[in-house]
Amino acid sequence: MKNKFNIILLPGDGIGQEISSQAKKILNWIDSKTKINFEVSEDLIGGASYDKYQTPLEDKTLANLKKADAIILGAVGGPKWENLPFEKRPERGLLKIRKELDLFANFRPAIVFDSLIDSSTLKPEVIKNLDLLIIRELTSGIYFGEPRGIQKINNEQMKGFNTLVYKTNEIERIAKVAFEAAISRNKKLCSVDKANVLESTELWREVVTKTSKKYPEVELTHMYVDNASMQLVRNPKQFDVIVTTNMFGDILSDCASMLTGSLGMLPSASIGISNKSKKSAMYEPVHGSGPDISGKNIANPLAMILSVAMMLEYSFSEKKLSNIIHKSVSAILDKGYRTKDIMDKNSKEVSTDDMGDLVLKELENEKI
Ligand code: NAD
Repeated sequence: MKNKFNIILLPGDGIGQEISSQAKKILNWIDSKTKINFEVSEDLIGGASYDKYQTPLEDKTLANLKKADAIILGAVGGPKWENLPFEKRPERGLLKIRKELDLFANFRPAIVFDSLIDSSTLKPEVIKNLDLLIIRELTSGIYFGEPRGIQKINNEQMKGFNTLVYKTNEIERIAKVAFEAAISRNKKLCSVDKANVLESTELWREVVTKTSKKYPEVELTHMYVDNASMQLVRNPKQFDVIVTTNMFGDILSDCASMLTGSLGMLPSASIGISNKSKKSAMYEPVHGSGPDISGKNIANPLAMILSVAMMLEYSFSEKKLSNIIHKSVSAILDKGYRTKDIMDKNSKEVSTDDMGDLVLKELENEKI
């Protein structure tokens, strides 16, 4: 008897389309070769949705996403839609999903594959065997706080403003997720804030410290975000799990991407666990729609393929299958195949499509 799951794929814009085609190859392989049955349907988001329906996310799509077992998203945005009114912009569709499905915990692993050590701008000894997890709060903080806006002060002056706000329960639930993740790893958690100048993160520090009492086996440290950004490039292996606010997590995880060599290597999972009966989850690469490389068949699809691997682990508890995908990606890299972004002089350059086919071929040799 096969386990049946309903997956919605939202390719989105730009390279989102190209990398989603590679994810489909992997999903088809899972469906045909394992005990899992994926029913995959596709829908529109972002600029693609705006072009057809004049909205970055249709209500009907949102309703279907709420019923799905998991969502896989490519990327949204691009210059074509940059001048639209704020609410119509592609990114609003993505933020709406995060908010409506209460996807408050964003997991961003930064794992360095041995064969890519030379793709990073950092020294090999700094990043060798790096395995770091950044957990970013995703549905609150300055990206959602009210009041916000741009207002006229007088005839000469305007003001733009946003609000950084966190409530106790929002901090508690992300802290709990982070402590539990640390328990399943090396039991070290670093909470990153700016408690010396921002009251909202002073509360963050207090609540994380209070939550830590329930997890005595985890070693908790606190770090200011400016120091954390410096430590991430100085000595990233000092970290096991980092938990931080929405904006700090956004910035630190892009910084961590350069430890791994390319934004094109970083997967992510966004999970909501408030509703006990149904976990909502969305999987997506960390990168955006890559307008500069879109349509050229050169984007790296590995962040997307590794996002599928995260889905297997986080949504369907298929850690073994997830590891098989990791192993296949690693094997392809060991054989010297590279997309342009991770290319070095001794490697063989392949296209987006070729990279998807190579991983698929490697998977087909696996005994399940
Ligand atoms: P980006 O991540 O699209 O690109 C940054 C750089 O990384 C570019 O040089 C790009 O070519 C490169 N890059 C990104 N992904 C790659 C991949 N898979 N393979 C090889 N190279 C890759 O960020 P940006 O240029 O700041 O933003 C472009 C658009 O994407 C904007 O509209 C932005 O709002 C949107 N965006 C969307 C998301 C999302 O959908 N989650 C995230 C970030 C940015």
